[in-house]
Formats: sequence, C-alpha cells, structure tokens
Amino acid sequence: MNHDELLAEIDSYSYTYKPKSALRAVVELHKPSEGPDEYENIGCEACGFDSEYMQYAQIYPCPTIKAIEKELKIHGIPEDEL
Ligand SMILES: [Zn+2]
Repeated sequence: MNHDELLAEIDSYSYTYKPKSALRAVVELHKPSEGPDEYENIGCEACGFDSEYMQYAQIYPCPTIKAIEKELKIHGIPEDEL
C-alpha cells in the first residue's frame, strides 16, 4: 500500500476503533522528551535528536502533533481522551 492508498484507506473509515487506535499510536510516539536539550527546549521523541548540534530535531509539539491538533481543532490533547 503506497502513501496515497494509505490516505484513501483512512478517508474510507467511519469513526470506529481502528482509526482511533491508529491516531493514538502516532500521538503516543510523538511525545515530549523527558528532559530539555542543550538549548533548554523540550523536543519530540519520535522526530529525532540531532547529535551534531545536541538538540531535538523538532520542539514539542512537533509538526505531526500540530497537524493532528489542527484537524481535531483542539490544543493539548489529553491522551486519555483519544
Ligand atoms: Zn514528532
């Protein structure tokens, strides 16, 4: 299944447990780091760490989380509500 097919598959879902659990899995991966980097920033664990510059690749919330929040039209999604 290529990327466009995956998007079409997601679009075909009605609101059931499957897309909810998939969305939750993504949100669980894109979580804030336990501690700050060299620049005192809390980063996203899933988006990676740049060891050359000793900083997270993305500040939390990362673009993935922001996109999800935008689509859900909320900010700061409590994980237990997903
Ligand atoms: Zn991320």
